[in-house]
Amino acid sequence: YNVPVAKNEPVLSYAPGSPERIRLQDTLAEMRATQVEVPMYIGGDEVTTGNLKPMVCPHDHQHILGHFHEGDASHVEDAINAALGAKRMWEDLAWEHRAAIFLKAADLIAGPYRAKINAATMLAQSKNAFQAEIDAACEFADFLRFNVQYMVDIYKQQPESAPGIWNKVEQRPLEGFIFALTPFNFTAIAGNLPASCAMMGNTIVWKASNTQIYSAKVLMDVFKEAGVPDGVINLVHGSGPVIGDVVFNHPDFAGIHFTGSTGVFQHIWKTIGENIQKYKSYPRVVGETGGKDFIAVHESANPIQVATAITRGAFEYQGQKCSAASRAYIPKSMWSEVEAKVKEDLASIKMGPVEDFTNFVNAVIDERSFDKIAGYIDRAKASDKCTIIAGGNYDKSVGYFVEPTVILTEDPMYETMQEEIFGPVITIYTYEGSRYEEMLELVDSTSPYALTGAIFSQDRYALEFGVRKLRNAAGNFYINDKPTGAVVGQQPFGGARASGTNDKAGSALNLQRWVSPRLIKETF
Ligand code: GLU
Repeated sequence: YNVPVAKNEPVLSYAPGSPERIRLQDTLAEMRATQVEVPMYIGGDEVTTGNLKPMVCPHDHQHILGHFHEGDASHVEDAINAALGAKRMWEDLAWEHRAAIFLKAADLIAGPYRAKINAATMLAQSKNAFQAEIDAACEFADFLRFNVQYMVDIYKQQPESAPGIWNKVEQRPLEGFIFALTPFNFTAIAGNLPASCAMMGNTIVWKASNTQIYSAKVLMDVFKEAGVPDGVINLVHGSGPVIGDVVFNHPDFAGIHFTGSTGVFQHIWKTIGENIQKYKSYPRVVGETGGKDFIAVHESANPIQVATAITRGAFEYQGQKCSAASRAYIPKSMWSEVEAKVKEDLASIKMGPVEDFTNFVNAVIDERSFDKIAGYIDRAKASDKCTIIAGGNYDKSVGYFVEPTVILTEDPMYETMQEEIFGPVITIYTYEGSRYEEMLELVDSTSPYALTGAIFSQDRYALEFGVRKLRNAAGNFYINDKPTGAVVGQQPFGGARASGTNDKAGSALNLQRWVSPRLIKETF
């Protein structure tokens, strides 16, 4: 059980003139100039259907990066059969081989594929270089390296034996195949959902979000080069309902590893429930879903810290993180200072395409998302309960651009205080500072979600009180810091209530879900 101690992949600076910046810029130019065709990957074969769907740049939607081949139900069947076919060989392989393969994948991502995975994430998901680096390169490498360590921790744990009795736990992979359904907003999560299950000896059918297929292709290249055998991770493209219909009706469906919207997850849960008698075992259902993440501020807080948390927590990657700050509760007496600093920060921020590294804000993912966010902004503009403090403009003529928008509301139950928007919009509610406890109750009861949250206070008693009072309001809870940016190995990530099953991404708890232990007692 001697594996290298995992360390976080150092985040590169991409300072002007740095070698990593030059390499990334060259890769971006090359990828923009080439059209890519992404097949499905089934049992090691690259499967094409001719049913081509475009992959567009969200910040330049007339620019087509290439196409992917969409499949139908028969391809999903093929992928399931490929996963089941590859299973016996894969699960019989000693764990050292699986560890070696995924450690190699981490080194490939951090090394020769770094520019490519970042560039794909930038172009197709409109994530700027710095946000791509912490996601696609570093977080993905971290997931792989730390998970190898957690895997070994799981295998190491063995029960006591006794004279004449030998007890042993065998961490069997699940019986059947696992379905990974992954989001557009983190390339690292998209890669980790299939990889963490495969690491534990399972074989996978993976459906990536249509808007993340470009970087998913690079991940498949990495898996192949690292030595993931054919059939272990099968990537299919197609409509969610068509794929789901085959997967959730299959007797060998053994589990789902999901990140995405609460609505989709709840629908999947119901479908699994309806089909429960079809399956050999009770499937593992692991999901990270939506959030309505808060910043709760006590009178003693440092207003500058609060303002920075708002700007970074709400607007990095256009607020398209499940963890993004989207509602803040600020004492009335502090608001003018926070407001001034937020406005100053936003005035210095540029919005535009990812190819210009000075743009902090880029485009939102697609037209549907743009329209939804614009709808929230329009309704807030028309509401007599809201004032737009900053931003409020949007334009989809070239790319799906929405200005970082700060709404001030006098109604703590206004829709943007309750509903997940998944865009660059934060709503502020100011409260009478003496009513701290009531404010905390509002935080706890306003939305059904409980993913991340932050509390700001310099007063230890107020802090202690708030942390206890908000015990169930967030699975990742930050003190005097923004609620985004969990680092693998340091802040295992996930929430409860409508935000998911809280099987922390990047933890032994998560990996444990992908095995079904067999206890073996031998008497001799
Ligand atoms: N782990 C990410 C963070 O801490 C968020 C993950 C997500 O958006 O699903 O910001």
